[in-house]
Order: sequence, then structure tokens, then C-alpha cells
Amino acid sequence: MKDNPFENGLKQLKHAAGIMKVEAEVVTRLSAPQRTIQFMIPVRMDSGEMRLFEGYRVQYDNHRGPYKGGIRYHQDVSLDEVKALAFWMALKCSVVDIPMGGGKGGVIVDPRTLSKGELERLSRGYVHMAADFLGTDKDVPAPDVNTNGEIMDWMVDEYAKVTGKKELAVFTGKTIAGGGSAGRDKATAQGGFYVFEEALKVVGLQDKPKNEITVAIQGYGNVGGWMARIVHAGGYRVVAVSDAKGGVYAAEGLVIPQVDACMKEQGTVSECKCTKDTCAHGEGKISNKELLELPVDVLIPAAIENQITKENVENIHAKLVVELANGPTTPEADAELFKRGVPVVPDILANAGGVTVSYFEWLQNKQGEKWTEAEVDAKLEPMMRAAFRETLARSKKYTTDLRTGADILAIERLAEVL
Ligand code: NAD
Repeated sequence: MKDNPFENGLKQLKHAAGIMKVEAEVVTRLSAPQRTIQFMIPVRMDSGEMRLFEGYRVQYDNHRGPYKGGIRYHQDVSLDEVKALAFWMALKCSVVDIPMGGGKGGVIVDPRTLSKGELERLSRGYVHMAADFLGTDKDVPAPDVNTNGEIMDWMVDEYAKVTGKKELAVFTGKTIAGGGSAGRDKATAQGGFYVFEEALKVVGLQDKPKNEITVAIQGYGNVGGWMARIVHAGGYRVVAVSDAKGGVYAAEGLVIPQVDACMKEQGTVSECKCTKDTCAHGEGKISNKELLELPVDVLIPAAIENQITKENVENIHAKLVVELANGPTTPEADAELFKRGVPVVPDILANAGGVTVSYFEWLQNKQGEKWTEAEVDAKLEPMMRAAFRETLARSKKYTTDLRTGADILAIERLAEVL
């Protein structure tokens, strides 16, 4: 039977709470969402037929600020999944210390089966059903799996129609033209990069020449692609990248701008062994399995969940794992890596740059400001580095892994306001 993600979230809460010895009441308060909204969205299909799609908005906790979290469109969305994701958003916002709470939304739909018009009507329908519960200082959604800036722009427009109020700050992750923030596209990777640099110190790699620090990145989408660009531009040696079709490896290091050009041409990075001198298509190919098992300094899973598992953990040779994807390491593999002294920077810390820049977008919209990308980065960097150091301090104090350290930090901050 498939694991219930919400039950896993609750186990994580109880584990951290037991170690830090927080008051039982805090666990009670955090063991269920404050509010769960469930609705059916009527959508007129292009064929003229009327269909109903089931949607959710889970408002987990708002003691630190308005609920914050994406809206996911996927055929496998379930209420338990949305509850778990909302719980993790509450922890994530707390770890990076932004004044926002945890929320999440979802619709059970395979968006590949919808025309653009149907997608727009579904998105507007979602807002229609949830509008009473959303608001700049109430609940601020964002994109998640299969939703994007254009969908957020439709949602802002629909929210204005339903409420009579044009409020840009009620959704984040909008297009730049629609009021989005500079730097949002790369924000998750940019934040992950600051954390990656802090984590190198934990494994004693801070003095190794950067071009000798080897990095493998799984996933070349929004997060993995940007991470490859930023790590490469930072002078580190990216020896392998991959996407759903497979990966490519070059011991001497890949030249990422060339990989980008090749990816544009081929539609996948798995054909692109682009090094200093050549871009040898089809050479150096490796599977995703092989990429994960490379003897690199740093492994960065940035694709999907459950990639480092009890089946492959003994073949993981990296000295450090930085989780840019959500949930790439299973609990069994996590425990094994901790035993072996391989730090895993947990997702709620490593990929929190995205929600942090969403918070910056919200602030800019509220204040009628527009920050440059350099301004965004300059504000993001100290927040991410501080979150890492605070997490590390908790993991040392309680002799736990970084994941539990991050959970403890988040719960400590929540406990102050509950
Ligand atoms: P994306 O859809 O843009 O990219 C996903 C990448 O993973 C693609 O390159 C795809 O080919 C690859 N991939 C898919 N299936 C794969 C498989 N079986 N093996 C190897 N690679 C595979 O998604 P994204 O926005 O880059 O998100 C990646 C991860 O980061 C997800 O776990 C997401 O939840 C998490 N995340 C994203 C953000 C964000 O700002 N986009 C923020 C926080 C967390």
C-alpha cells in the first residue's frame, strides 16, 4: 500500500518534538490543519459537456503569517497529500523565518488532457470556489506541479472579478508582466546554492579548489537546470546532469552554457557531453541510477521524490547530499546516510529559496515596489545562510541529522507563537 504522506509528516513531527521535548500541546496544535476546504469546480469543456473537478485548499497554520503554498494540478492529488504538503510549507516558512504560515492547494486533474481554454476555466473556477478563503493577508497561493505564472495571472484577474478588489499580492509566482518578482525563476536554485556553500564547510570541503569540487545534479527543469548554471558559474565542477531521459557524465566537468544550447536543440540533456573543447552528442551517457551512484563530492537530487532509497543507498558515494527536490530521500535511506556520516541538507531548508522569493514578491506588491534581481539575491543570501547555520546548530545541540535539526528549528519558532 502507498505510504500516507500526511501520516509520514506527523511521524516526523512527533520524532522532532520528542527529541526537543516541546510541550505536548504544541504537537496537538500542529497535528491537524486549521482548516480544510474541499470543493467541486464546474468546468464547461470545449465539447460543450460540463465536468466537475475536485479541488482542495488546506490552511495548515497561520500563527506566523498568512497561509502560503502552491496549487498543484495532478491526477494523483489527494487530500492527504495536500495536507502533508501544507504541513511541510508551515515548517519551511518557519525554517527560513519568513512571516508566513503553511498552506497548499490541489485539483485532481491531468492537465495534459485539457485545452488551454479548459485550463483557464478550471483555474478561474478554482478561485471562484476558494476566493472567500484567500486574500493578501489571509492565504496567498503560488504555482506548484503543473501550474505556472500564466495561471497565477488568470487567478489574480478572477479574484478581482469575484471580490471587486485588484490585489496583486494575493498570488505569487506571477509572470513579471503580471507583477511577479525578478529572480523568482531561479530562486529555488539560488537559495539552494547558498545552502550548498554553507554545507561544504560541514564536510571540510571549503578549502578545496572550487574547480576540484565535483557535483552531480539529477533533474534539469526549473530547479536542476538553474542549479547547474549557478554552480558552474560559481566555479565548481559539474560532472553530471540528467533529466527524465537519462544523464551525461564528463570527469573533466561539463560546460553548462553549452549543455543549455545542446538541450535546446535536442530537447534533453542526456545527449549533451559538452566540455571545454567539444559538445559530443550521445557520448558520456549514463542512466539516472548511475548518476546517483557517482563518487562525487556533492549529489543534488532536483527532480522527483524517492530517488535515494534503501535499495540504492549503499551505492551512494557522495560526501554530501543537498535535496533541492521535495522528498528525494526515503526515511530508511536517510537513517543509513546519517549512520555513515553523509550529511543530507533537507528539502524544507535546501529548496526554501523559492518560497522566500515568493514572500519578496508579496512584499513588493504590497509596497508598490520593484526590486532588481541583484536586490533579490542580496536579500535572499543572508536568510538562506542563517537558516542553514541555525539548522546546523540544532542538529549539533541534539545530536541529530540536519533534517531533524531543521524540523526542531521550525517547531521551536512555531511553538513561540502558538
Ligand atoms: P520541472 O518539472 O521543471 O523539472 C523536473 C526535472 O526532473 C525535468 O528535467 C525532468 O525531466 C526531470 N525528471 C522527471 N522525472 C524524472 C526521473 N524519473 N528521473 C530523473 N529526472 C526526472 O520541476 P522543478 O520545478 O524543477 O521541480 C523539481 C523538484 O523541485 C520537485 O521535487 C519540486 O517539488 C521541487 N521544488 C521546486 C520548486 C520550484 O520553485 N520550482 C520549489 C521547491 C521545490
